[in-house]
Amino acid sequence: MQTPVPDYLDEVRETCAHEGDDGEVASYIPELADADPSLFGVALCTIDGTVYASGDAEHRFTIQSISKPFAYALALADRGLDTVLEHVGVEPSGDAFNEISLEQSGRPRNPMINIGAITTHALVGDADTTPADRVRRIREGLSAFAGRELEVDDAVRRSELDTASRNMALAYLVHAQGKLEGEPHDAVEGYIEQCSLLVDVRDLAVMAMTLASGGRNPVTDEQVVPAWVCRQVLAVMATCGMYDAAGDWMSTVGIPAKSGVAGGVLGALPGQVGIGAFSPKLDRFGNSVRAVRTCERLSRDMGLHLMQAP
Ligand code: GLN
Repeated sequence: MQTPVPDYLDEVRETCAHEGDDGEVASYIPELADADPSLFGVALCTIDGTVYASGDAEHRFTIQSISKPFAYALALADRGLDTVLEHVGVEPSGDAFNEISLEQSGRPRNPMINIGAITTHALVGDADTTPADRVRRIREGLSAFAGRELEVDDAVRRSELDTASRNMALAYLVHAQGKLEGEPHDAVEGYIEQCSLLVDVRDLAVMAMTLASGGRNPVTDEQVVPAWVCRQVLAVMATCGMYDAAGDWMSTVGIPAKSGVAGGVLGALPGQVGIGAFSPKLDRFGNSVRAVRTCERLSRDMGLHLMQAP
């Protein structure tokens, strides 16, 4: 008899927890340094919208960089592929998430690193959208992906805004290259609010499954963005989502994915499954140690690798 999914997830989580807890909780955003490193949750969402979860599945944490593919999706839906590509590329950077990764043309290399994500944030809506309306559009858009209303963690937002020199510098640099729409300060402020949205691993699993279902949320049945947008987003996640560990991730796990510095990882396998995992300690690339290990296990056990012939 097959192991029921919840028991299987408990077993995966326990094994991955016992395999050690090396890594460090992110501290460059002061408020994140207080996270409890023992927290560990995992959730799966299937194509029919069934969600299975284990561990600290109700614990909410800030979405951080996992918001980037969703803001990219909204920018694509609002502005079209050509306009977005004029401003942000699709090549892996091979650099850390907060590097000055610009092409010769002045275009940020991709939307999954900070410099490209701040540029992408500014593209959501249209040329007349105010910074406050843009943040609202992003909050509502990400909520539609999750199937419930997401809220902002104001303490994390303020903490990051107080220590945002590097992101401000990145934004001003893109602005000087003529690739950032609007004011750099507004873009960074809005981007930080976008990163401060609170999610749990169930939300991540549903958001992932929505991307993996051509933009249709499997729980609410809402078509959040068109299918072509999801194909573009998943392709960029596959090559750039795990920063400079992206090649290693693609060969071992083989699932389009995105990580965030609060410790979340989201994985989306087209037509099959959405994964959300969370634990605060990060490896040197800024990816959660336990969440990465969990995805490796799930991929191996369930044969999820994209490149594996059926
Ligand atoms: N808000 C974070 C930052 O801009 C997001 C980074 C991340 O999650 N890797 O630095």
